[in-house]
Amino acid sequence: MLLKETDNSPKKVANCKTTNGEVDCCEEYQVHDELVLEREKYMLQAKSYQEKAQIYKALGDPTRLRILHGLSQGELCVCDLAYLLKMSQSAISHQLRLLRTLKLVRYRKEGKMVYYALEDQPILKILQDDLELR
Ligand SMILES: [Zn+2]
Repeated sequence: MLLKETDNSPKKVANCKTTNGEVDCCEEYQVHDELVLEREKYMLQAKSYQEKAQIYKALGDPTRLRILHGLSQGELCVCDLAYLLKMSQSAISHQLRLLRTLKLVRYRKEGKMVYYALEDQPILKILQDDLELR
């Protein structure tokens, strides 16, 4: 066996039985060494999952989804977005600030107008594909 058991790797998992008597975890601790070592190379740094989770969390909000969908056909100014979503500019800009922090949208100022557009993020392409399937 290549992999050493750590102090917190139990030989026997204590409670694998669900209330209806189903066993839903291993009843004996036995790591598949080759498989796990190979899989370990494939996994990302913990920090990357944290960043992804923050993005997914931001997407878990209907208003923000509507903003991103609204911008998917091209840039709009904050007035346009407010009209489109029937919301106040301040409520919209609050959400836009958060989306900007996560680099999901970018903005540019032109005279007195502020225009927002989607950033070039792969997750936004997935989101767009999904939302087009209405
Ligand atoms: Zn405007």
